[in-house]
Amino acid sequence: MLLFCRSCGNTLSIDEDTSGMQFSCKSCPYVFNIKKKLSTRIYPKLKEVEEVLGGAAAWDNVDSTDEPCPKCYHPRAFYMQIQTRSADEPATIFYRCCNFQCSHNWRD
Ligand SMILES: [Zn+2]
Ligand SMILES: [Zn+2]
Repeated sequence: MLLFCRSCGNTLSIDEDTSGMQFSCKSCPYVFNIKKKLSTRIYPKLKEVEEVLGGAAAWDNVDSTDEPCPKCYHPRAFYMQIQTRSADEPATIFYRCCNFQCSHNWRD
């Protein structure tokens, strides 16, 4: 954690708002912004979710729906709703083509 000004060595003050944290120096114009990444510590990153969903085992006992596959045009797909990032963001729906020859994954 950055606590001292890189240009003058004074202690930085920390301001926090919705978009992240800002460390600012009281004695010079030095400012250091940190984008808030708290949510990614709590919820899996979308990429990690996709990696998990890439495994066939993740799709055992999953419901299917009338969602055509964009790749092979098979009319049905398995689907999973996954809450990523933060609870106040809408859940992402992941699909996997019901055609096992295709097994294409995509998300809403
Ligand atoms: Zn400074
Ligand atoms: Zn398909």
